[in-house]
Amino acid sequence: MSELAATATQLDQAGRALAQEAARYTRMGWMRGTSGNLSVTLNRDPLRLAVTASGLDKDELTSRDIVVVDETGAAVPGGSLSGRKPSAEAGLHARIASVTGAGAVVHVHVLAPVVAAERWPAGVELRDLEMLKGFGRAAHDDLVTIPVVPNSQDMVVLGDAFEAGFDPATPALIVARHGLYVWGEDLHSARNRAECLEWLLRFSLETRADAGGQPASGRWT
Ligand SMILES: [Zn+2]
Repeated sequence: MSELAATATQLDQAGRALAQEAARYTRMGWMRGTSGNLSVTLNRDPLRLAVTASGLDKDELTSRDIVVVDETGAAVPGGSLSGRKPSAEAGLHARIASVTGAGAVVHVHVLAPVVAAERWPAGVELRDLEMLKGFGRAAHDDLVTIPVVPNSQDMVVLGDAFEAGFDPATPALIVARHGLYVWGEDLHSARNRAECLEWLLRFSLETRADAGGQPASGRWT
């Protein structure tokens, strides 16, 4: 097998699934202005991810608009059928897939998590809500803290901040003033979790008057 570590059939299936999923998020308003990116894990050793290509309208992707990247998020030789480039954010996708064992990682510029991180920069606490079951946690007596990390253009810095606060029971990360990462065993699982989490964060923003906490590390204002 080449450096792609994936067959043509695997790539085609991944491309179709990613394009279909990206169009769905775009319709939800979560991938505005070409923002956001999705990935699926093609191979574990060596780690290879198929990531949506950078700079394209996410409701117009074809199955060829993906790039195969390595564990650093760099495109592997022959990794794009369409000559596209991966987003710089592919580096964080790869780090998350490596650390968590996820089969799919979703990164969207949806508003509620970013506003919630502004209000609760040390982490967003959720508990006693039925929708937590859709996020893979208990509906009662289970305090869930969604970690928040400061934004950075350096994916190693972001990856280190993610790993430092990683809890295997919490499949999400908010990057302050930027967006949301959610992962799961496949794209469907990741989407279900992202949808439930967005509801939970909107609920918190609309019902909780408190603010508090200092950023876990660094400042961004
Ligand atoms: Zn982003």
